[in-house]
Amino acid sequence: MANQKPSDTADEGPSNFLEDIVEQDLREGKHGGRLMTRFPPEPNGYLHIGHAKSICLNFSMAAKSERGVCNLRFDDTNPEVEEVEFVESIKKDIRWLGFDWEDREYFASSYFEQLYEYACILIRDGKAYVDSQSLEDIRKLRGDFHTPGINSPDRNRSIEENLDLFERMRQGEFEDGAFVLRAKIDMASADVKMRDPILYRIKRVTHHRTGDRWPIYPMYDFAHGLSDAIEGVTHSLCTLEFQNHRGLYYWFLDQLPVPHCPEQYEFARLALGFTVMAKRKLHALVRDNHVSGWDDPRMPTLSGMRRRGYPPRAIRTFCDRIGVSKRDGIVDVTLLEHTLREDLNETSPRVMTVLKPLRVVLTNFPEGEVHELDVPNMPDDPSFGTRRVLFSRELYVERDDFMDDPPKKWWRLGPGKEVRLRYAALITCDEAIRDPNTGELVELRCTWDPNSKGGNAADGRKVRGTLHWVSAAHAVDAEVRLYDRLFTVENPLGEEKEFTEFLNHESLEVLRNCKAEQSLAGAPPGNRYQFERHGYFCVDSEDSSADHLVFNRTISLRDSWAKIAAKLK
Ligand code: ATP
Ligand code: MG
Repeated sequence: MANQKPSDTADEGPSNFLEDIVEQDLREGKHGGRLMTRFPPEPNGYLHIGHAKSICLNFSMAAKSERGVCNLRFDDTNPEVEEVEFVESIKKDIRWLGFDWEDREYFASSYFEQLYEYACILIRDGKAYVDSQSLEDIRKLRGDFHTPGINSPDRNRSIEENLDLFERMRQGEFEDGAFVLRAKIDMASADVKMRDPILYRIKRVTHHRTGDRWPIYPMYDFAHGLSDAIEGVTHSLCTLEFQNHRGLYYWFLDQLPVPHCPEQYEFARLALGFTVMAKRKLHALVRDNHVSGWDDPRMPTLSGMRRRGYPPRAIRTFCDRIGVSKRDGIVDVTLLEHTLREDLNETSPRVMTVLKPLRVVLTNFPEGEVHELDVPNMPDDPSFGTRRVLFSRELYVERDDFMDDPPKKWWRLGPGKEVRLRYAALITCDEAIRDPNTGELVELRCTWDPNSKGGNAADGRKVRGTLHWVSAAHAVDAEVRLYDRLFTVENPLGEEKEFTEFLNHESLEVLRNCKAEQSLAGAPPGNRYQFERHGYFCVDSEDSSADHLVFNRTISLRDSWAKIAAKLK
């Protein structure tokens, strides 16, 4: 069954309370032994990693049973903010994550006719009425937790008149806001949601699927549970904020001749440190150009994470690890980063790329000679094969690997210091050449030990430092984008100031003069590598081309941030 959870995900999370419920229901043959979940996005933005938690939960839950299925249902009842672009991106992101809804692609808007029928039934049963009050008056009369609500003057409108007005609302006779349809429940209920909630409002807005066919649209609470019922969903898993919608969810199911009664269960939303997740906030970041778009590699969106270089498996493993509970809290972003590094460490071939190049001339290396080295792509795993790396008289090393006046225990380059060039040879630094005018370091003159091929001295002398390097004549030019966390504080929303005040202005550093080993020439978009000693990088999917390679840093090798932060303290 294609609905299964991708099998390569590390399934290490302990079973959660929802799994226990589902397993018991299956054992007891509840819902006729069926299991159907759904992922119900509103197509009003791009998916983020919080949605991934819900996607993994719903699809994996369905995979608990041979007959289990998970639907994709777009909750598209709010045409002003919904767009086809978002529908398409959501589908792409779910597929990329590794899940398949097969032919069960549904839209709440496909049920508009049925939902309208249900509303008419409520009216005929005296359980709904057309109200001409303004939204503001409705809100005022609703009361609050401490004050009971007050009945609308329209509450006792006759059934005939309600049916007539509702029909005319549908025909488009009235302006926006002229009327709403409300359920007739109990204005004194302790559950404020039960105080005659609005079911339909007039909105003469074009819908991305139904066009101008409907001038009225159902409210979320009315549409959601009934859509679950129409589809035959058995377990409607939603986030904690819907706990207080539960009474209403079941009220509709109780009043109406639905084909099936789903059950609602709530779990905690994912909140992650050093980022924001609410779509409204993400919209604002895009709109105000704090990021380059929804797929900016710093965004917590799935499209951003994909572009950043996250393998989908790392996200699934992360969702497994955080588990599912009823307690809200912020998940430590280092758990995500750790999971990411772990995945990339196992899957990314190693290559050498110099980010801030410094030219090295090996003065005793014959001019024009080129050595071909056969180098492993993954030192610990021969199955990754080998590649050819070229070694010659002129090389690049990392500018930061040289110091004029190095401290003790500096195992890198400095006057008179000997280091190993990874896989190649031992070299000793003889002279640093500076620009006579600016004093800027231009080049190092070094000598190599011809008896150290592969990087080990023939006489067995010990050399501690090993540097990465590339051959100058064979290097490929590249642009490298170093990404860091988008915010400087763990909870940008928990502060007094506007969350954008906490944007990390060093979250992107662009290096335009990088030198990659020749094997990276023409590297295809999306490919991932470990740049030795730097971290994990991928070829950017938007801006990279054969003539202009662009790499994104997915994540550094170790958590350098923790070190910096500790120092700042
Ligand atoms: P946001 O609050 O970010 O705008 P939303 O809840 O409005 O998100 P929907 O498109 O309605 O977004 O969400 C689709 C599904 O994903 C819902 O079932 C919702 O509960 C779930 N979901 C959304 N955000 C999270 C999150 N942070 N953690 C877990 N599940 C989430
Ligand atoms: Mg929502």
